[in-house]
Amino acid sequence: MSDWYRDFANSGLGGTITTQLGLPRPAELRRYEPGQPLLPGPAVVGSAGQGRLRDQLTALLIEAGITVSNPAEDGERLSAVLLDATGLTGPADLAGAHALLAPAVRRLAPSGRVLVLADPPADAGDPAQAAARQALEGLVRSLAKELRSGATANLVLVPAGAEDGLAGPVRFFLSGRSAYVDGQVLTLAPADLPAAEDVDRPLAGKVAVVTGAARGIGAAIARVLARDGAHVVAVDVPAAGEQLAQVANEVHGTAVALDVTAADAGPRLARQLVARHGGVDVVVHNAGITRDNLLVNMDADRWNSVMAVNLQAQLDLTAALLATEGALRPAARVVSVSSQSGIAGNRGQTNYAASKAGIIGMVRAWAPAFAERGATINAVAPGFIVTEMTARMPLGTREVGARLNSLQQGGLPVDVAETIAWLAQPGSSGVNGQVVRVCGQSLLGA
Ligand code: NAD
Repeated sequence: MSDWYRDFANSGLGGTITTQLGLPRPAELRRYEPGQPLLPGPAVVGSAGQGRLRDQLTALLIEAGITVSNPAEDGERLSAVLLDATGLTGPADLAGAHALLAPAVRRLAPSGRVLVLADPPADAGDPAQAAARQALEGLVRSLAKELRSGATANLVLVPAGAEDGLAGPVRFFLSGRSAYVDGQVLTLAPADLPAAEDVDRPLAGKVAVVTGAARGIGAAIARVLARDGAHVVAVDVPAAGEQLAQVANEVHGTAVALDVTAADAGPRLARQLVARHGGVDVVVHNAGITRDNLLVNMDADRWNSVMAVNLQAQLDLTAALLATEGALRPAARVVSVSSQSGIAGNRGQTNYAASKAGIIGMVRAWAPAFAERGATINAVAPGFIVTEMTARMPLGTREVGARLNSLQQGGLPVDVAETIAWLAQPGSSGVNGQVVRVCGQSLLGA
């Protein structure tokens, strides 16, 4: 689906008109393709205070074939700026962040990346250190709003002991996989890491279940997981059978017609996964419905059906997989699709927002038990995603929804899929119980 306004704003005449009127000029985002270099150009790595990650970050970039430039020298446009802020002792050290970022951001190329790494404020030794660490959140979220031309800024919190799990998240935030993830804060946890993985086919040999895979975001998830090497078991309601079969054929996967709210859906799917595939590595709870109305006009059917599909089915299916011997393979990854509505709330969507907020509670509560088995469970919260559903919205409503974010455009289903595929990778074992927003730093919600 093309973005007519973005195309117009980037045309000769359109560019002049939008600039004169002070209208947004959304950029074409750099998106991931297998085989493409991690970054198209050089990067700089700097630190504020005596950080402990700078050498590790530099080595990671060099290993990926990226030229690491000297921050003090003027030169080519930069594809990325990495700031190691793990050495902060108090607010005075933040001057180092400013000293690195101000000149480097001026040199940032279109779809460039600013990535800041720091310790969690909660682990600080004293209030001054906690203040400095927390200050980075304000800096990064504001810088993300200032950046233009498809560039993003994100913050990764690395507690002591979690350094080994840094490579996967750093690669994600630098790559085109994170095109629509902007202004976010991700907290890592210490975790066991697998041996080095194939960066182009990180899911080779894995089995992945995707619910609601017949169309929209679910079909995009199936395609991206298959591209990354997984065998995809695509699940959707029997009524969507034809579309489901098409998607399953396209990705050389398996179609399973199943209503996730059926009383025996969990045990049935779990048994089938054990019998036909020897268990599952990746579970993506994507099936979801909306039944919008103001709360005062909402009948029980609307409330109950949304809760059943969007929340209760995810709880029941996950519980059944955990309870069935051999269903969840070691180091399994569960990813639940939440929504920005579950974070910010949305008029007419008390049922939907409640169900999507419930998912966040679910993944946080299950994360410690998953960590004990070497597994993870996380949520992604998409913002305005360009789908057939949003294409049918009235022009004005759609344009407002699509532009109210730092990237000034709606995301694509593939952006949600790329984030899920990254969370599903073996190298994402340090990301657990997190909510990753794929919203272009929407102005709605935190
Ligand atoms: P969609 O309606 O196009 O697709 C949802 C799929 O889920 C359909 O194929 C449907 O048949 C299937 N499904 C519904 N009930 C089911 C059930 N009981 N059992 C099995 N399958 C079932 O929706 P989409 O826009 O692709 O959304 C996918 C997910 O992303 C949903 O969870 C949605 O809430 C979430 N989301 C979407 C957006 C957006 O902008 N489109 C934003 C935030 C979150």
